[in-house]
Amino acid sequence: MAARSSLDERIPDGYLAVVEGAIPTADGGMACAIGGRPFKDVVREVCDGAIATIAVGSCAFDGGAPGANGGRTDAVGVAEAAPNAHLISLSGCPMNVENLTATIVHYLTFKELPATDGRHRPLFAYGGLIHNECERRAHFEFGEFVLAWGDEGAQKGWCLYKMGCKGPEVFANCASVQYASATSWNIKAGHGCIGCTMPDFWDSMGPAHARLPATLPFAPTVTADQIGLGLVGGVAAVTAAHGAATYARELRNRVVGRRRAATAAIAAVAPAPVEGRVATLEPPEVVSPEPVEPPPAPASMEAEPVPAPGPAATPEPMTTPEAEPGLEAAPAALEEPGPSRPGADAPEQPESSR
Ligand code: SF4
Repeated sequence: MAARSSLDERIPDGYLAVVEGAIPTADGGMACAIGGRPFKDVVREVCDGAIATIAVGSCAFDGGAPGANGGRTDAVGVAEAAPNAHLISLSGCPMNVENLTATIVHYLTFKELPATDGRHRPLFAYGGLIHNECERRAHFEFGEFVLAWGDEGAQKGWCLYKMGCKGPEVFANCASVQYASATSWNIKAGHGCIGCTMPDFWDSMGPAHARLPATLPFAPTVTADQIGLGLVGGVAAVTAAHGAATYARELRNRVVGRRRAATAAIAAVAPAPVEGRVATLEPPEVVSPEPVEPPPAPASMEAEPVPAPGPAATPEPMTTPEAEPGLEAAPAALEEPGPSRPGADAPEQPESSR
């Protein structure tokens, strides 16, 4: 308490704050108190006055184990307890001291904090997957896995993926920096990665010894197996498309080659065109035939002389034949209907008209 109250006098040019541990917020934050004050109030006061704040370890990062499901203290990390702090977080359980040293040296050298990701973690330490740097990666590629603790694969140092290793999903530089002055690290010692640098790792990356969780923190609806199948399918599709394109190009080249060969053969046997002459389509000249004299007709076939035209003959007037006496009344009887003959069939009249 004395050191904190004399900060401005002892370090007038400003200071870097380093926070370790989760910050309880339940019950007024009194699950952790310093000098009778809630830790959460002290953290906000110190971090707001600092040039920059470095949260070390997963508890200060986001609450860690005290902040996991089932916790009683509602513990949170510095980012939530002191939202106005100029923050850089070094997650991990435990945090790697090499990364803390590197962060402080970076600030002393460049007068600024190193570049970070969206969760305030420096990219130089949390920008790559453990899986990509792991010394057992070759066994993963060859399908050589530890299947039980202490089996032949474990003794040969094979991949721990099937024993629950989370290395393919975890961003940290554990594999390259290692711990204890690069003496060893957990996978080298024979235990899979538990994902302790990831957000909410107690809940999101467990259980520690089971295979990959059914869903991934950054893609809740996609499993690692689905990602693998998708990658395999994508590679197969690209390969098939490449093969089809190559075959089509080969086919086209063959057709073009045959056409060129045929054109060359035709050109070899065809007469060469006369240079400078242009073919015309003028119609050919029409020659009239010589008039032919008709042969003399034989004497028996000589035509009779045609008489010279004279005055037109007057036709004789037509005479009307005399009508016979018995036939005079017949036409009249046919011209008009006469009275009904007695005895002829007459239409029967209705009773009322009679
Ligand atoms: S031990 Fe883990 S990190 Fe290493 S290669 Fe296997 S799965 Fe990846």
